[in-house]
Amino acid sequence: MNRIKPFFIGLTAALLIACSMVPITGRQQINLLPQQTMLSMSLQQYDQFLKENRLSTDKEKARMVKRVGGNIQKAVERYFAENNMSEALASYAWEFNLVESEEINAWCMPGGKVVVYTGILPLTRDETGLAVVMGHEIAHAVAHHGNERMSQGLIAQMGGMALATALETKPQATQQLWMAAYGLGAQYGLMLPYSRLHENEADRMGLIFMTMAGYDPRTAVDFWARMAAQKGGASPPEFLSTHPSDKNRIRNIQALLPEAMAHYTGPE
Ligand SMILES: [Zn+2]
Repeated sequence: MNRIKPFFIGLTAALLIACSMVPITGRQQINLLPQQTMLSMSLQQYDQFLKENRLSTDKEKARMVKRVGGNIQKAVERYFAENNMSEALASYAWEFNLVESEEINAWCMPGGKVVVYTGILPLTRDETGLAVVMGHEIAHAVAHHGNERMSQGLIAQMGGMALATALETKPQATQQLWMAAYGLGAQYGLMLPYSRLHENEADRMGLIFMTMAGYDPRTAVDFWARMAAQKGGASPPEFLSTHPSDKNRIRNIQALLPEAMAHYTGPE
Protein backbone atom coordinates (compact mmCIF):
# COMPACT_ATOMS: atom_id res chain seq x y z
CA MET A 1 0.00 0.00 0.00
CA ASN A 2 2.72 2.41 1.04
CA ARG A 3 4.74 1.65 -2.02
CA ILE A 4 1.83 2.40 -4.30
CA LYS A 5 1.14 5.78 -2.74
CA PRO A 6 4.18 7.78 -3.99
CA PHE A 7 3.63 6.39 -7.47
CA PHE A 8 0.02 7.36 -7.23
CA ILE A 9 0.85 10.92 -6.26
CA GLY A 10 3.40 11.12 -9.07
CA LEU A 11 0.88 9.90 -11.56
CA THR A 12 -1.81 12.26 -10.36
CA ALA A 13 0.66 15.12 -10.77
CA ALA A 14 1.51 13.98 -14.29
CA LEU A 15 -2.16 13.81 -15.14
CA LEU A 16 -2.74 17.28 -13.76
CA ILE A 17 0.02 18.57 -16.03
CA ALA A 18 -1.37 16.70 -19.01
CA CYS A 19 -4.87 17.93 -18.25
CA SER A 20 -5.50 21.50 -19.32
CA MET A 21 -8.45 23.72 -19.98
CA VAL A 22 -9.36 25.21 -23.34
CA PRO A 23 -9.67 29.01 -23.15
CA ILE A 24 -13.19 30.47 -23.57
CA THR A 25 -14.97 27.10 -23.78
CA GLY A 26 -13.52 25.83 -20.48
CA ARG A 27 -13.42 22.27 -21.80
CA GLN A 28 -10.92 19.92 -20.15
CA GLN A 29 -8.46 18.32 -22.57
CA ILE A 30 -5.55 15.93 -22.33
CA ASN A 31 -2.28 17.08 -23.90
CA LEU A 32 0.38 14.42 -23.40
CA LEU A 33 3.08 16.05 -25.52
CA PRO A 34 5.34 18.65 -23.88
CA GLN A 35 4.79 22.15 -25.29
CA GLN A 36 8.51 22.29 -26.12
CA THR A 37 8.18 19.24 -28.35
CA MET A 38 5.19 20.77 -30.12
CA LEU A 39 7.07 24.04 -30.68
CA SER A 40 10.24 22.48 -32.06
CA MET A 41 8.27 20.23 -34.42
CA SER A 42 6.22 23.23 -35.49
CA LEU A 43 9.27 25.43 -36.15
CA GLN A 44 10.99 22.73 -38.16
CA GLN A 45 7.95 22.19 -40.36
CA TYR A 46 7.31 25.90 -40.74
CA ASP A 47 10.91 26.64 -41.85
CA GLN A 48 10.74 23.78 -44.31
CA PHE A 49 7.43 25.10 -45.68
CA LEU A 50 8.83 28.61 -46.18
CA LYS A 51 11.83 27.17 -48.04
CA GLU A 52 9.59 25.24 -50.41
CA ASN A 53 7.01 27.98 -51.00
CA ARG A 54 7.10 31.51 -52.32
CA LEU A 55 5.91 34.53 -50.33
CA SER A 56 3.44 36.72 -52.18
CA THR A 57 4.96 39.76 -53.89
CA ASP A 58 1.65 41.63 -53.54
CA LYS A 59 2.86 44.05 -50.87
CA GLU A 60 -0.58 45.46 -50.10
CA LYS A 61 -2.18 42.06 -49.52
CA ALA A 62 0.83 40.78 -47.57
CA ARG A 63 0.54 43.85 -45.34
CA MET A 64 -3.17 43.17 -44.87
CA VAL A 65 -2.38 39.62 -43.66
CA LYS A 66 0.17 40.98 -41.17
CA ARG A 67 -2.23 43.72 -40.03
CA VAL A 68 -5.18 41.35 -39.45
CA GLY A 69 -2.88 38.80 -37.81
CA GLY A 70 -1.34 41.43 -35.54
CA ASN A 71 -4.79 42.70 -34.51
CA ILE A 72 -5.98 39.18 -33.64
CA GLN A 73 -2.71 38.45 -31.84
CA LYS A 74 -3.28 41.51 -29.63
CA ALA A 75 -6.86 40.40 -28.94
CA VAL A 76 -5.69 36.89 -27.98
CA GLU A 77 -2.99 38.34 -25.72
CA ARG A 78 -5.53 40.64 -24.09
CA TYR A 79 -7.97 37.78 -23.50
CA PHE A 80 -5.24 35.57 -22.03
CA ALA A 81 -3.97 38.44 -19.81
CA GLU A 82 -7.48 39.18 -18.54
CA ASN A 83 -7.87 35.51 -17.61
CA ASN A 84 -4.42 35.07 -16.02
CA MET A 85 -3.28 32.74 -18.79
CA SER A 86 -0.53 34.85 -20.38
CA GLU A 87 2.08 32.23 -19.53
CA ALA A 88 0.54 29.92 -22.13
CA LEU A 89 1.58 32.40 -24.83
CA ALA A 90 5.08 33.09 -23.47
CA SER A 91 6.78 30.81 -26.00
CA TYR A 92 4.84 32.25 -28.95
CA ALA A 93 6.76 34.04 -31.70
CA TRP A 94 3.97 35.20 -33.97
CA GLU A 95 4.47 35.45 -37.73
CA PHE A 96 1.89 36.14 -40.43
CA ASN A 97 2.80 35.31 -44.01
CA LEU A 98 0.95 35.42 -47.30
CA VAL A 99 2.13 32.59 -49.56
CA GLU A 100 1.68 32.43 -53.32
CA SER A 101 -0.55 29.44 -54.01
CA GLU A 102 -3.81 28.69 -55.78
CA GLU A 103 -4.78 26.41 -52.91
CA ILE A 104 -7.72 27.66 -50.85
CA ASN A 105 -6.07 27.27 -47.47
CA ALA A 106 -4.72 28.86 -44.28
CA TRP A 107 -3.30 27.50 -41.04
CA CYS A 108 -1.66 28.39 -37.74
CA MET A 109 0.98 26.15 -36.17
CA PRO A 110 1.69 25.88 -32.44
CA GLY A 111 3.77 28.89 -31.44
CA GLY A 112 1.86 31.34 -33.65
CA LYS A 113 3.23 30.70 -37.15
CA VAL A 114 0.36 31.69 -39.44
CA VAL A 115 0.25 31.16 -43.20
CA VAL A 116 -2.47 32.39 -45.54
CA TYR A 117 -2.54 31.18 -49.17
CA THR A 118 -3.34 33.75 -51.87
CA GLY A 119 -5.93 31.24 -53.17
CA ILE A 120 -8.25 31.90 -50.22
CA LEU A 121 -8.31 35.71 -50.70
CA PRO A 122 -11.06 35.73 -53.38
CA LEU A 123 -13.27 33.96 -50.83
CA THR A 124 -12.35 36.08 -47.81
CA ARG A 125 -12.86 39.15 -50.08
CA ASP A 126 -11.81 41.84 -47.59
CA GLU A 127 -10.02 42.41 -44.31
CA THR A 128 -13.00 41.32 -42.20
CA GLY A 129 -13.43 38.09 -44.20
CA LEU A 130 -9.73 37.41 -43.66
CA ALA A 131 -10.21 37.99 -39.92
CA VAL A 132 -12.81 35.17 -39.90
CA VAL A 133 -10.27 32.70 -41.30
CA MET A 134 -7.27 33.90 -39.29
CA GLY A 135 -9.27 34.10 -36.05
CA HIS A 136 -10.45 30.53 -36.58
CA GLU A 137 -6.98 29.15 -37.38
CA ILE A 138 -5.33 30.99 -34.48
CA ALA A 139 -8.05 29.59 -32.20
CA HIS A 140 -7.10 26.01 -33.22
CA ALA A 141 -3.50 26.75 -32.20
CA VAL A 142 -4.13 28.46 -28.86
CA ALA A 143 -6.64 25.73 -27.98
CA HIS A 144 -3.84 23.12 -28.46
CA HIS A 145 -5.99 21.09 -30.83
CA GLY A 146 -2.88 19.63 -32.49
CA ASN A 147 -1.47 18.37 -29.21
CA GLU A 148 -4.84 16.94 -28.29
CA ARG A 149 -5.17 15.08 -31.58
CA MET A 150 -1.67 13.65 -31.20
CA SER A 151 -2.40 12.67 -27.62
CA GLN A 152 -5.47 10.83 -28.83
CA GLY A 153 -3.23 9.00 -31.27
CA LEU A 154 -0.78 8.11 -28.52
CA ILE A 155 -3.56 6.84 -26.35
CA ALA A 156 -4.88 4.76 -29.24
CA GLN A 157 -1.39 3.29 -29.72
CA MET A 158 -1.06 2.52 -26.05
CA GLY A 159 -4.23 0.50 -26.30
CA GLY A 160 -2.62 -2.86 -27.13
CA MET A 161 0.22 -4.74 -25.49
CA ALA A 162 1.89 -1.87 -23.64
CA LEU A 163 -1.22 -1.02 -21.75
CA ALA A 164 -1.96 -4.65 -20.87
CA THR A 165 1.55 -4.98 -19.40
CA ALA A 166 1.22 -1.72 -17.52
CA LEU A 167 -2.11 -2.83 -16.12
CA GLU A 168 -0.46 -5.94 -14.66
CA THR A 169 2.32 -4.05 -12.90
CA LYS A 170 0.50 -0.87 -11.81
CA PRO A 171 -3.13 -1.90 -11.93
CA GLN A 172 -4.89 0.83 -9.99
CA ALA A 173 -2.88 3.77 -11.23
CA THR A 174 -2.81 2.71 -14.83
CA GLN A 175 -6.49 2.12 -14.83
CA GLN A 176 -7.01 5.64 -13.60
CA LEU A 177 -4.85 7.01 -16.40
CA TRP A 178 -6.76 4.93 -18.86
CA MET A 179 -10.12 6.07 -17.57
CA ALA A 180 -9.03 9.71 -17.59
CA ALA A 181 -8.09 9.35 -21.23
CA TYR A 182 -10.92 7.16 -22.37
CA GLY A 183 -13.50 8.71 -20.12
CA LEU A 184 -13.01 11.88 -22.11
CA GLY A 185 -12.67 10.02 -25.38
CA ALA A 186 -15.75 7.90 -24.88
CA GLN A 187 -17.87 11.00 -24.60
CA TYR A 188 -17.21 11.95 -28.19
CA GLY A 189 -15.79 8.76 -29.65
CA LEU A 190 -12.11 8.40 -30.44
CA MET A 191 -10.11 10.39 -33.01
CA LEU A 192 -12.32 11.34 -35.93
CA PRO A 193 -15.41 12.75 -34.24
CA TYR A 194 -13.12 15.10 -32.33
CA SER A 195 -12.61 17.22 -35.37
CA ARG A 196 -16.22 18.35 -35.25
CA LEU A 197 -15.71 19.34 -31.63
CA HIS A 198 -12.49 21.13 -32.54
CA GLU A 199 -14.21 22.93 -35.40
CA ASN A 200 -17.03 24.16 -33.20
CA GLU A 201 -14.56 25.26 -30.58
CA ALA A 202 -12.37 27.10 -33.12
CA ASP A 203 -15.49 28.78 -34.56
CA ARG A 204 -16.59 30.00 -31.13
CA MET A 205 -13.14 31.19 -30.05
CA GLY A 206 -12.29 32.63 -33.47
CA LEU A 207 -15.47 34.74 -33.49
CA ILE A 208 -14.62 36.21 -30.10
CA PHE A 209 -10.98 36.91 -31.00
CA MET A 210 -11.89 38.60 -34.31
CA THR A 211 -14.53 40.71 -32.54
CA MET A 212 -12.09 41.74 -29.82
CA ALA A 213 -9.72 42.69 -32.66
CA GLY A 214 -12.35 45.14 -33.93
CA TYR A 215 -13.96 43.11 -36.74
CA ASP A 216 -17.68 42.45 -37.18
CA PRO A 217 -18.28 38.71 -36.46
CA ARG A 218 -21.57 38.73 -38.41
CA THR A 219 -19.47 38.56 -41.61
CA ALA A 220 -18.52 34.97 -40.65
CA VAL A 221 -21.95 33.77 -41.80
CA ASP A 222 -21.38 35.25 -45.29
CA PHE A 223 -17.87 33.80 -45.49
CA TRP A 224 -19.01 30.25 -44.66
CA ALA A 225 -21.90 30.60 -47.11
CA ARG A 226 -19.34 31.48 -49.83
CA MET A 227 -17.27 28.44 -48.80
CA ALA A 228 -20.36 26.25 -49.03
CA ALA A 229 -21.08 27.58 -52.53
CA GLN A 230 -17.49 26.65 -53.49
CA LYS A 231 -18.18 23.02 -52.61
CA GLY A 232 -19.54 22.22 -56.05
CA GLY A 233 -16.09 22.50 -57.71
CA ALA A 234 -14.31 19.52 -59.28
CA SER A 235 -11.68 19.25 -56.54
CA PRO A 236 -12.81 20.51 -53.16
CA PRO A 237 -10.34 23.03 -51.73
CA GLU A 238 -7.97 21.97 -48.97
CA PHE A 239 -9.61 24.32 -46.48
CA LEU A 240 -13.01 22.77 -47.20
CA SER A 241 -11.79 19.19 -46.79
CA THR A 242 -10.65 20.03 -43.27
CA HIS A 243 -13.44 22.55 -42.59
CA PRO A 244 -16.68 21.12 -43.95
CA SER A 245 -19.06 23.99 -44.48
CA ASP A 246 -22.69 23.06 -44.24
CA LYS A 247 -25.99 24.32 -42.90
CA ASN A 248 -25.15 22.99 -39.44
CA ARG A 249 -21.98 24.99 -39.26
CA ILE A 250 -23.66 28.20 -40.42
CA ARG A 251 -26.53 27.65 -37.98
CA ASN A 252 -24.02 27.04 -35.23
CA ILE A 253 -22.16 30.25 -36.07
CA GLN A 254 -25.43 32.19 -36.00
CA ALA A 255 -26.10 30.78 -32.53
CA LEU A 256 -22.62 31.85 -31.39
CA LEU A 257 -22.99 35.43 -32.62
CA PRO A 258 -24.67 36.97 -29.53
CA GLU A 259 -21.75 35.82 -27.34
CA ALA A 260 -19.24 37.32 -29.80
CA MET A 261 -21.26 40.51 -30.32
CA ALA A 262 -20.93 41.26 -26.60
CA HIS A 263 -17.30 42.13 -27.43
CA TYR A 264 -18.22 44.25 -30.45
CA THR A 265 -17.58 47.99 -30.29
CA GLY A 266 -17.79 48.84 -34.01
CA PRO A 267 -20.62 50.28 -36.11
CA GLU A 268 -24.01 48.53 -36.20
ZN1 LIG B 1 -10.82 24.60 -38.31
